[in-house]
Amino acid sequence: MALPGSWSLPLSAKIIDGRAVAERLRQRVAQRTALLREQGLVPGLAVVLVGEDPASQIYVGSKTRQAQEAGLNHFDHRLPTSASTAELIALVNSLNARPDVHGILVQLPLPAAVDSAAVLAAVDPAKDVDGFHAVNAGRLALGEDTTVPCTPLGCLILIREALPDMAGKRALVIGRSNIVGKPMAQLLLQNDCTVTVAHSRTRDLPGECARAEILVAAIGRPKAIQGDWIRPGAVVIDVGINRIADGSGKSKVVGDVDYASAVARAGAITPVPGGVGPMTIACLLMNTVNAAIRSRFGAGAELLRA
Ligand code: NAP
Repeated sequence: MALPGSWSLPLSAKIIDGRAVAERLRQRVAQRTALLREQGLVPGLAVVLVGEDPASQIYVGSKTRQAQEAGLNHFDHRLPTSASTAELIALVNSLNARPDVHGILVQLPLPAAVDSAAVLAAVDPAKDVDGFHAVNAGRLALGEDTTVPCTPLGCLILIREALPDMAGKRALVIGRSNIVGKPMAQLLLQNDCTVTVAHSRTRDLPGECARAEILVAAIGRPKAIQGDWIRPGAVVIDVGINRIADGSGKSKVVGDVDYASAVARAGAITPVPGGVGPMTIACLLMNTVNAAIRSRFGAGAELLRA
């Protein structure tokens, strides 16, 4: 029997716990790394950080710590802001040649004077654990097995948590960057979703959101996606990391989705922080272990799967 007035109870979404899912993935990475070590193969990640950007320093610190905890070797290369494109390419080439380095990550953004595209293009595609190289982006677009950018890969894993079978679902990706929006759309397409990609020139964003059973927001605009735009029951993945004033003279991090209104409407939603963010580094570690496996055992070897 229905409770009196139960019709008016607000819906509340399942909260997708990115920290817990990332922890499980890191455990799988650590287990596989331990097995590889027994075979004399230690996956190695080289991180290149240029300049003093505080956010980049925090990210690189977390990557280094988590790589260490999972049993990977890590090699940090810190260069001053004055580093030139030629110096960076020379460093990347030396890392390409090292057999103990299986993954190379160039922390973005690089200083404005550096030709970022030329530096990223210099990374050996086999060691491109960020999945940003044109060869890997092209393979993803062709639906081939390849290294997929870490943030969209993490989003896909979180969507599966809420929706194990996404075939035929209407998916909306808001944002068309090369590092999040475009690869996210490719992954959803590979998983048989019907995919729409929205961007700053999209005419009716609320209307697009209203149709989406899966919504991935990656625009970098604090709380831009309103709860009442969201289709009831949708799976909402919030990639945004936006620092805003919290009213007491300090700052806090919020997503691209207005969480307070969206949580009452979505079927499942990722919080910010604690949603997509933790998945990115876990996927980076997975990509590095897989690069190490491919380097030793060839393309047909059994890889860690998302
Ligand atoms: P980006 O390169 O700045 O791209 C933003 C995209 O959003 C662009 O395609 C832009 O459209 C679109 N856009 C901007 N305003 C819009 C609006 N009002 N309506 C619809 N679309 C709009 O950003 P990004 O690198 O993809 O990152 C997006 C967000 O994700 C940022 O908050 C970033 O910090 C976060 N992020 C998080 C992680 C993580 O680990 N959790 C990793 C990477 C990024 P146009 O193409 O038309 O300009």
